[in-house]
Amino acid sequence: MIIALTENSREYANIIFHIIRIFIPTLTWDDFLNNTSDKAILLEIKVNNEKIYCTLKDNCSFKFDINDGNGEINKAVKIGVYKLLASFLKYKNSPWGILTGIRPTKIVHRLWDQGLNTAEIYSVLKKEYLLSDEKIENLIEITSFQRNNLLIHKEAKVNVSIYISIPFCPSKCSYCSFPSYIISKWENKLETYLDCLIKEIIQVGEALKNNNIVVQTVYIGGGTPSVLTHKQLNRLLKVINSALITNKTIEFTLEAGRPDTIDKKKLEILKELGVNRISINPQTMVDKTLNEIGRNHTSNEVIEIFRLAKKIGFEIINMDIILGLPGEDIDSLRYTLDEISKLRPNNVTVHVLSLKRSSKYDLGLLENSNENLIAEMLEVTKQKMYDNGLIPYYLYRQRQMIANLENIGYCEYDYPCIYNIQMIEERQTIWGLGVGATSKVLLNDEYALENQNNPKDLFYYIENIDEVITEKVKAIYKLYRREIK
Ligand code: SF4
Repeated sequence: MIIALTENSREYANIIFHIIRIFIPTLTWDDFLNNTSDKAILLEIKVNNEKIYCTLKDNCSFKFDINDGNGEINKAVKIGVYKLLASFLKYKNSPWGILTGIRPTKIVHRLWDQGLNTAEIYSVLKKEYLLSDEKIENLIEITSFQRNNLLIHKEAKVNVSIYISIPFCPSKCSYCSFPSYIISKWENKLETYLDCLIKEIIQVGEALKNNNIVVQTVYIGGGTPSVLTHKQLNRLLKVINSALITNKTIEFTLEAGRPDTIDKKKLEILKELGVNRISINPQTMVDKTLNEIGRNHTSNEVIEIFRLAKKIGFEIINMDIILGLPGEDIDSLRYTLDEISKLRPNNVTVHVLSLKRSSKYDLGLLENSNENLIAEMLEVTKQKMYDNGLIPYYLYRQRQMIANLENIGYCEYDYPCIYNIQMIEERQTIWGLGVGATSKVLLNDEYALENQNNPKDLFYYIENIDEVITEKVKAIYKLYRREIK
């Protein structure tokens, strides 16, 4: 189905495009703005005398009061369009109502900052955003945990976190939309990439030290950072230790996501060089699915590597799982949950499958997914996590998620991943180093943020490394208001 805007409603295009994609996830921006064919159902929005008129041409229309959006026209238009489409498509309400952003917890933190109490926050989320009771409870639980632990407290603002990108993988997972390079094909570029990355790490570290800025957490992600050889890991981690880490750094994570890239020696190197949190990600423990999604490893390898990591002394180990993988049902999920529960990870990150055009899967999966099944999977997972003594500590959503739901990180009470919280809540500057890494720079006390992106292309990054570093170092000095010596 295609819904297209009438010419005179275009000023609302940006506001409502993602609302419409709640109902029609495959709708393109181009069709939405320009499709004039008979197939398109035209949507018209008029605002007149405190009233908002939303009409689906020749089908149905609604009239709304601006007060429905607490006096904000844009919010009222969103609510109007949401209700119009829900009625037209006979769609039961989305648990996330009109919220389409990927960081709903940020809204709740702002409400806490304004001094609202739990009941008042509940009322705002219900009335102005149309959230379900369950999602409101989730948000209140997670944000309360974060605030009680002072993880997003103002003090976090004077420190920074560092993200380091290793954009290489052993094979391409079918659902993946990250721009990762397959190691067998690009191995000859890896050393040059490391040279550039190390140069960036050293100079950024120096600039931070010159400005007395403490690195609170370091997160090496990808890709699959554990594709690095023993020698490369040694070299990279030693540089990180001397350039970035101090006795005030409290967390050092490396995503050892794919067990087929890990061995005993690598785990020993990580342990010896200060990595205190790793991720070993099964995604599912069903071997048939692992094979179908191109993971090139078995569930047994996950178990073996996890046990080895425990034996070597890693205290915090995360496991990622994905709900909604093709061919999986509630029994597959229960099996996965039972298997990983036997290992007792103290961090589990639960993703709902999200698909972008760059993944190998057909986007039609988004429209044809069984929403009730995915919602049930999330519920079953949540219960299992609580039974295992884990609580939800961060939450985010992605565009184009199956069933329009959310990803949730669970942890034992004392073991949240602080980097994950800082990255989602955006209350601390994060400097991103390496290909495709984004720096999120906090500009003022109101948490205004500026994103600065490193080049996404490996060759471009390598060729322009000096400019990339110069820009970043300048940005660091400018932010902390000290002149470059
Ligand atoms: S391991 Fe991660 S980054 Fe690499 S292909 Fe698979 S999903 Fe993508």
